This record gives sequence, structure tokens and C-alpha cells, in this order.
Amino acid sequence: MHRVKVTSLTRIMPLSVGESQHLRVLRLRPGATLRVFDGQGAEADATLIRLDEGGAMLELGEAVQNNRETPQPITLAVALLKGDKLSDVVRAGTELGVTTFQLLQTRHADVPEIGEQKLVRLRRIAAEASKQSRRAVTPEVLAPVPLTRLTLVGQGFLAHPGSTARLTETLDWQTAVTLVSGPEGGFSDAEVAALTALGFTAITLGPRILRAETAPLALLGAIAASGV
Ligand code: SAM
Repeated sequence: MHRVKVTSLTRIMPLSVGESQHLRVLRLRPGATLRVFDGQGAEADATLIRLDEGGAMLELGEAVQNNRETPQPITLAVALLKGDKLSDVVRAGTELGVTTFQLLQTRHADVPEIGEQKLVRLRRIAAEASKQSRRAVTPEVLAPVPLTRLTLVGQGFLAHPGSTARLTETLDWQTAVTLVSGPEGGFSDAEVAALTALGFTAITLGPRILRAETAPLALLGAIAASGV
């Protein structure tokens, strides 16, 4: 069933010019059923009641329960990476259940900053991946902050090679979690100390050194593989 993102759900609602055009390309006819969602958790089935040059009009049915969110909100704080690596992390991270991406400026980050255009692109990728993976929620992608200004939401874990603690043995599965993953050059000792002082626990992802774009997905995969 085709999924349409809308800003809010009302019983009779018009669609945007872009979405209306998309439905025309799909050659949908009045009577077709769709699923609408607002990216904040509200979702409903809808019937297409009009589609013409003036746009599309939908009639919404009962709200639908979407159980695809993890029991605990997941923030992934990821160091700025070069090229398209952040796009890959945001796309796959959305599929794996991240609710908030916090971009991080770190001492050895691949790049010191990212431009507004790239941020907009990452947000679009999160919206598309959320739609594709049939999530009710579109993750936020927050502008970069220095590592020392990172907010710990719930329990915090920092992936750092050589650590001994393991995520799946330490995680409380019902409490919000903030996961931190570093740049290709790793975290400096001072950064590890700063995060530890903020309340983050350093954890291992095994004896192999993972690339900076692989490590966040290993963190999230450990949670996803538990089936939540
Ligand atoms: N030479 C760097 C170091 O020793 O930290 C390697 C950095 S690694 C390429 C990039 C990031 O991925 C690290 O900062 C860490 O967050 C994560 N990472 C990679 N392999 C890991 C492992 N085996 N255990 C924990 N974290 C790992």
C-alpha cells in the first residue's frame, strides 16, 4: 500500500502538489486505499476520493496502530564523516530504529563542519528511509555540536576499541539510550574522559577495528537483532 507523509491528519484532507503529482504518476484512481502518516507517530488508512489537475483529496479512516518503533528512543551521536558516509549511516540507522541523529564535531573528525545543504539532504534521506521501512516516526537529524556539548538522553554508551563492557549485557531495554560512535581517527583520550565524565560507558564492538561508518550500524544491529 502506498504511504504518504502529511503534516497533520484530518478526516478530509488535500495532499501537497508534489504528493498529488506522485499519485498521478502511480496512476491511482479514486477509491484507491493509501496509508498516511505524520512522522510523529500518527497513522491512518485513507481512501483517494479525488485526483485531478486541482490535486488529490483523501478521506481518512480509523487511526492505525504502528508498532514498528523500539520501546526506548535511540539517539545516535555520530562524528562528522567525509563523502557520503553520513548519508549511509542515516539511511541504515533509520531502518534500524534511530529516533534522533546528533552529528558530532570531534578532535579527529574527518571534516570540521557540514553545510546547510548537506544537513537538508540528510533530513530528506531520513524521511525517505522512514517511509521505506514503514516507520511511524521520521528521525530528527540535529546540526553538529562539539562533543563536550553532547546531551546524554537516558543511558549512554560510547563505542571505543579496547573497552571491555558489552552493550547487550549492560543495556536496560526499556530506557532511552544515547549511542556514540567516533570518526575514522577515533576519539582522543581527553574526549573519552569527557564522555565518561558525562556518564557514558565505553563499550567494545569486538576485537576487530570497524570503519567509522560500520561501527554505528554494529551498535544499532545489536539492538535490532534482539527483535525490539
Ligand atoms: N584508531 C582508531 C581508534 O583506535 O579509536 C580507530 C577508530 S574506528 C576506525 C572509528 C570508530 O568506530 C571508533 O572511534 C569507535 O567509535 C568505533 N569502533 C570501531 N571499531 C570498534 C571496536 N572494535 N570497538 C568499539 N568501537 C569501535
